[in-house]
Amino acid sequence: MRGLARRLFCQGLGAMALSIGCRPHRPGGEVVRPRDPDDPRQRLLLRGARIYTERGLQRLDLRARGGRITELAPALEPQRGETRLDATGLLALPGGIDPHVHLSSAATPPDEDTGFCDNYTHGSEAALAGGLTSIGAMIFPDEHDDILGAVETHTRSVAEQAIADVFMHAVAFTSAASSQAALATLERRGHTSIKLFKVMVQFERQRSGFVEIIREAGRRRMLTLLHCENHQINDEATHRLIAEGKNSLRYFAESSPVRSEVKAVRDAIYLAEQTGAPVYVVHLSSAAALTECVAARRRGLPVYVETRPMYLYHTRARYERADGPLFVGQPPLRGPEDIEALWDGLRRGLIDTIGSDHAPFTAAEKLDPLSNLEEYRPGTPSLQMMLPMLFSEGVARGRITLSRFVELTSTNAARLFGLYPRKGVIRRGADADLTLWDPGRRQTIDVDMLRSRAGYDINEGREVLGWPIYTIRRGELAYADGEITAAPGSGRLLARGPHQPLR
Ligand SMILES: [Zn+2]
Repeated sequence: MRGLARRLFCQGLGAMALSIGCRPHRPGGEVVRPRDPDDPRQRLLLRGARIYTERGLQRLDLRARGGRITELAPALEPQRGETRLDATGLLALPGGIDPHVHLSSAATPPDEDTGFCDNYTHGSEAALAGGLTSIGAMIFPDEHDDILGAVETHTRSVAEQAIADVFMHAVAFTSAASSQAALATLERRGHTSIKLFKVMVQFERQRSGFVEIIREAGRRRMLTLLHCENHQINDEATHRLIAEGKNSLRYFAESSPVRSEVKAVRDAIYLAEQTGAPVYVVHLSSAAALTECVAARRRGLPVYVETRPMYLYHTRARYERADGPLFVGQPPLRGPEDIEALWDGLRRGLIDTIGSDHAPFTAAEKLDPLSNLEEYRPGTPSLQMMLPMLFSEGVARGRITLSRFVELTSTNAARLFGLYPRKGVIRRGADADLTLWDPGRRQTIDVDMLRSRAGYDINEGREVLGWPIYTIRRGELAYADGEITAAPGSGRLLARGPHQPLR
């Protein structure tokens, strides 16, 4: 299935160069920069916001020094040399953590290996403009399956390009001894997770080796991320459709049916039971697969669930439209009953995280007339609008509480991926990662505001209620109402601690 990965991720036709602008927004507060800056980027006083702490929303002031929160108290006195931010009327939530993105390591993407048109600068800008301060990048090994080499390459790219903070999930395409041996180095460097693709044909062919990787990851308190679809079912369904002359992406949902996801999720649960290691199901899409995970959790198994924004707002009917290929990602969009089940899961805490699975290709690439069920570019550019959409459709509409929003978009990912309490919470000593939301602001999602070089968003034209106005990353104002205000290279690669169970 390395072949499939090649087909899926390596079709560089060249991304269209799009000019990306941003529209000025009405400010939600006021920024006062000190005249005599004594490293003012590291010194911040936030006043007037309602701050989401572990006790819920409180009207407090917050001071940050050296990237960390040093004081949280009512009416703090300003000090010389600090950046003052008047956030009256805004909500301060923990900076969002998107645990699942795909970015190119190239200085000038797309690179040959992935075809993704965003690197760490573009991805960071989209993240920060969308209220996210940390992103978890999937690191694909190169053609020699050199996991650690790919981690080195991306480490350099993050140092040069990133503005948001970044953590890495190394991907193992084979279960060779080198993959197993890489775990020790990954753990030592603080990359305490590994991603496996159950949808690849190698997974069953090299099953015993992959089981050892999961077991060893668990022993090291690393989390195993699993793409849960069954290769054989997808392969059979695809070939049946092609034999019927249904080779177009109109039939994408049928080519990767729900039973494929369910079978793979059942197996993931079995693997957690067999190895005792925690598993994390990425981009879960269907009611039936969620039911399996909920049952496993009731049995006390360490099975965690991530869903993805596109499954919450769109059904497979999209594939019948001319722009249907824009919505192609694996697994596919499902039915209205699945949307209901996922929202119920978000509300009740049955789903642990939301990850954008940002996989940016331009609209022209996605709509390439040569695309078909065997050759296509999977993924959507969803980083920037993930939180505004969830805030609007979830919190503003009363489908999830603000505390569920914070868990889903920050705290749970921080725990699962070994970043808590440095990230994922607003408290003294934590990194000063905050997103300031104007809960009353209405905004229409417009192509002009997008930071991804993909140049489109699958929710374009929707009006949302609630909008991130300022994003503060480690005490530095990194996004202010339409403007990126921190520099490439200011983002950090995060060395993480062990996976922390949620239950
Ligand atoms: Zn992905």
